[in-house]
Amino acid sequence: MSTSDYYQLDDLLTPEEQGLRMKVRECMEKEIAPIMAKYWEKAEFPFHVVPKLGALGIAGGTIKGYGCPGVSITANAICAAEIARVDASCSTFILVHSSLGMLTISIGGSEAQKQKYLPSLSQLKTIACWGLTEPDYGSDASSLKTTATKVDGGWILEGQKRWIGNSTFADVLVIFARNTTTNQINTFLVMKDAPGLQATKIENKIGLRIVQNGDIVLKRVFVPDEDRLPGINSFQDTNKVHYPWETDGPILGFLVAYSLTALCKQVLAASRLMVAWQPIGISMGVYDMCHRYLKERKQFGAPLAAFQLTQQKLVCMLGNIQAMILVGWRLCKLYDSGKMTPGRVSLGKAWITSKARETTSLGRELLGGNGILTDFLVAKAFCDLEPIYTYEGTYDINTLVAGREITGIASFKPAP
Ligand code: FAD
Repeated sequence: MSTSDYYQLDDLLTPEEQGLRMKVRECMEKEIAPIMAKYWEKAEFPFHVVPKLGALGIAGGTIKGYGCPGVSITANAICAAEIARVDASCSTFILVHSSLGMLTISIGGSEAQKQKYLPSLSQLKTIACWGLTEPDYGSDASSLKTTATKVDGGWILEGQKRWIGNSTFADVLVIFARNTTTNQINTFLVMKDAPGLQATKIENKIGLRIVQNGDIVLKRVFVPDEDRLPGINSFQDTNKVHYPWETDGPILGFLVAYSLTALCKQVLAASRLMVAWQPIGISMGVYDMCHRYLKERKQFGAPLAAFQLTQQKLVCMLGNIQAMILVGWRLCKLYDSGKMTPGRVSLGKAWITSKARETTSLGRELLGGNGILTDFLVAKAFCDLEPIYTYEGTYDINTLVAGREITGIASFKPAP
């Protein structure tokens, strides 16, 4: 047990979940922790760690069959936290691949697509990415403009994507595009070597520097019919997230054509839950580091841990972490019992990331000058939290999703 696990999360886990947690922790601390700061500084991806992560057998998470682990949503969440506790970039790499890319294929793919793609993705022999966001459509992703036009034997994709994690080296790119016949958003699998596809690394990030986020350009990219996902109809093996307002269409405030597809929304609800566990792991890593540091470093003839003000900060961090864990754990149980709603997961993601922001900020302060050096993990964690606060729905957008659910009034658009 780490010092940050004060209320003993382990007691809430099954023996299998506890075992998986220890396995991931050992691998992260032994194999990954020693090298990540250097890669973060260079903003390079350590490709040689991929087989080590693959050997953990966690890619695919809750997906059953096709060589995927089929673990509980709690186990999947714990893995996300354990990886983020050591390195948030590594955790984002896996989440984009597994909880976005693979889950989309699992929920929306045909049997043949699942058989073809999931086994090698589950071993990390091939890598997936997930392209929804566009340069002009971030929070307003449902208005996306990338088009898919039907031609003989397939589709022509044309448009741009931005911020897509893993896209500079992914083998399978999940791309959302607007069908020019129906005006609905459809989902396509684009292969890395497709003519007309280009992915360029976004430089100069101040957080998650190891993750390779890309600008994607699709210039008349041909996708054969067999690589268009049929959609939600094959969605049986994952818990469905209930959309309370969907029977009352108009309160959403969007035209149907400008709403994200059921497939995209189901994937986002599940992956947002995973993303909510990243800040928990990050905060735990920061707290554990600070706890050690304050006991070792002396000022005014005493360890920093002996001062009331430093203890107050530590206790505030620890309290935040216990509350974050309990909210995250409860969200997993709601998901498991089919009681998850978009508002519930959005509130969780928004609240947890905001508490983690406070926690890592206190940690950075507690380390004094060393709190701005990547050598001590805290500065890197502090920076890594910023993009997590923003992706998978910014704090504001997740607040509005929860606000819509509790009031029945959508306020995403300014009043006319
Ligand atoms: P904008 O939408 O322009 O928002 C700017 C600000 O305006 C924010 O503070 C926002 O909260 C606020 N705002 C916007 N609309 C409203 C409103 N209606 N009411 C109040 N405030 C509002 N996307 C993918 O598809 N795949 C990925 O793999 C992926 N990975 C990412 C990784 C990183 C590191 C980052 C930074 C982003 C990633 N994204 C990815 C994109 C991410 O989901 C978007 O950045 C996010 O949705 C916000 O969009 P935006 O950056 O365009 O900001």
